[in-house]
Amino acid sequence: MVKKKLKPGVEICPLCDLKKTRFFMRENNYILFKCRVCHFAFRKDRISEIEEGFSFQNEVRSAYQAIDKSIDEINQRLALRIINFLKQYGLRGGSVMEVGCGSASIGKVIQRSFPELAYIGIEPSGYFPSVEKNPELTILSTAKIDDHIAPESQDALIFNHVLEHVPDPRSMVPYYLRFLKPGGLVYVEVPNEQWKKIITPLMRFVRGTSSGMFAGHINFFTQKSLHVFVSAFGLEMRGGGL
Ligand SMILES: [Zn+2]
Repeated sequence: MVKKKLKPGVEICPLCDLKKTRFFMRENNYILFKCRVCHFAFRKDRISEIEEGFSFQNEVRSAYQAIDKSIDEINQRLALRIINFLKQYGLRGGSVMEVGCGSASIGKVIQRSFPELAYIGIEPSGYFPSVEKNPELTILSTAKIDDHIAPESQDALIFNHVLEHVPDPRSMVPYYLRFLKPGGLVYVEVPNEQWKKIITPLMRFVRGTSSGMFAGHINFFTQKSLHVFVSAFGLEMRGGGL
């Protein structure tokens, strides 16, 4: 008797809605599938770190506080790159909204280095302690956004390392795009992580564990799948790079 191979469940690609996906990899509680058409990979259960309750656990909260400074340091360098991008595509001033601003380390650099640009940060999660220490920056929770920001009022939007954390990025992005002026700029940066599939078994062999490789991530874009994603909102891709 030959044991039948179990057919993996058919998963629908959350980006292009096609059923042409395949099992990609497994890492602890992460089961990732990948779309054969748009090359997007995704966590099968679509559970965000907030839904898992993980960010509200004390140990995770303190871990975020412990790394808050180093995230700030990384983001300060990144902020200059974002400012250069915005200037390169013609932004001279006006207003920029950063969605998922964390501790607003990018906002601080924008205020200092590009004072012609008014910065508004949106942070829904509430576990970045240094936000409260920066009263000079405008940081809003998602619930207050409609009271403070008019539709089509922003010259630019920033999504910096946000889309990989969101269970439904196809709903989230248009929610914020309504605040963008026609012809406005959008800066999107996501990690490129599908290559980690190759080193995961090696990590397990060397360190005995591969946990923490995708902390909190649900979505794994490639350049191609990011292009598919942004094109669906009528955005035109400029200056993409790895
Ligand atoms: Zn797809």
